[in-house]
Amino acid sequence: MKTIIANWKMNVGVRESVALARGTLLALRGRRILPEVVICPPFIALSEVHKVVARSVVFLGAQNLFWEDHGAYTGEISGRMLTELGVSHVIVGHSERREYLGETDEMIRNKVTQALANQLNVIMCVGETASERKSGEQRERVRTQLVHVFAGVRLKSHERLMIAYEPVWAIGTGEIPEVAEVLAMNEYIRSILTDVLPEMDANKIRVLYGGSVEGNNAYSFLREQKIDGLLVGGASVKLNQLKEIIDATSEVLDAQKSL
Ligand code: PEP
Repeated sequence: MKTIIANWKMNVGVRESVALARGTLLALRGRRILPEVVICPPFIALSEVHKVVARSVVFLGAQNLFWEDHGAYTGEISGRMLTELGVSHVIVGHSERREYLGETDEMIRNKVTQALANQLNVIMCVGETASERKSGEQRERVRTQLVHVFAGVRLKSHERLMIAYEPVWAIGTGEIPEVAEVLAMNEYIRSILTDVLPEMDANKIRVLYGGSVEGNNAYSFLREQKIDGLLVGGASVKLNQLKEIIDATSEVLDAQKSL
């Protein structure tokens, strides 16, 4: 199985989101083996996009949630509200929220807890900045994020969690790490998950890659068995790019099937 998460960020409004959702369904039509596709429109478009993808193979994801169920939290959206809209997945800990909105590991832990309590599937992002990479601290950074976020978190099923390794310096920059680096980091992430979520088999938790994925580089990541899928930002709002990424995914899945 391969998973593609489309993070539309704040790039599209309601009408464009609906058109993109329809385009995504079309791009999946006629495939022998389907990847798992999760589209994450902005909050304002969730309801309309749900009408398009309900009863389809595409899952609806949100880009964020708040850590309380309800109350005086102006402007926030809870996990319970998301499930009312048909949302099944939520992105948590994206580096853009860490950077521009000051999200800390503690806030992210509370969000993960809230998402799980509402039966949402969590897509948790981790990754180092350019300066951390330069000083060779990438592993330590990712370890700290995982340890802080999952301290005390109870996970009932490995299927409820995906980790997206997203080096911050690769997001939206056109720069990508070597596939071998991603593989090594994925292995490291699984070793940390074994420690922080001892009740889970870390090999079963999906670990994705994200950062400047496009049609022309998706295959090189997807063909690796240990990379369970991709989190795609900018390219996911360009239908031709998204289609190329889905083509690459199908190619890998078809090849794996015929082995
Ligand atoms: C992201 O939004 O997490 C992301 C990886 O963005 P991009 O694909 O544009 O680098």
